[in-house]
Amino acid sequence: MIQSVIATAQEESIYLPAMAQIIKVRHMTQLEKLFTLQLPGGRSLGNAPGQFVEVSLMGIGEAPISISSSPSRSNGVFELCVRRMGDLTNALHQLEAGDAVGVRGPFGHGFPIEKMKGKDILFAAGGLGLAPLR
Ligand SMILES: Cc1cc2nc3c(=O)[nH]c(=O)nc-3n(C[C@H](O)[C@H](O)[C@H](O)COP(=O)(O)OP(=O)(O)OC[C@H]3O[C@@H](n4cnc5c(N)ncnc54)[C@H](O)[C@@H]3O)c2cc1C
Repeated sequence: MIQSVIATAQEESIYLPAMAQIIKVRHMTQLEKLFTLQLPGGRSLGNAPGQFVEVSLMGIGEAPISISSSPSRSNGVFELCVRRMGDLTNALHQLEAGDAVGVRGPFGHGFPIEKMKGKDILFAAGGLGLAPLR
């Protein structure tokens, strides 16, 4: 009963993090790791290309991280490419498959996909901004 009340509250409030499970961690470089995450019950994140989520760890903090996987090929999971920078991202890099993190969102307007349809597209990104352009 309490689980379904929490799940409903999480779906209705943008301020309540859902506890997402880490399914896989891939080392990309010395600074970056790619995390595959799944929301409770495998429910969809419902994101559009170019949006981000707020990732949190209890007692450490929260930071915005872009979604770097395609929403149309999600299979109930999503990916975040995280560069080790400060408090939260260093703590995230210590985690392994089976651990859980707080996730709020998706947030942001995303890319104007409708305006791009039928056009040639030039992708321009700086640094880690390249990951969400996948
Ligand atoms: C919309 C959006 C999307 C993003 N997407 C991604 C993404 O996909 N992947 C990703 O890795 N990052 C992404 N970021 C960046 C990420 O949110 C930041 O790097 C975030 O600050 C990391 O949190 P942290 O707690 O690890 O770092 P923090 O502890 O906040 O530190 C961040 C940086 O600030 C420096 N710093 C901290 N405190 C101080 C201080 N007192 N004085 C001087 N410098 C200080 C740290 O040394 C570090 O370099 C995104 C940011 C935005 C806004």
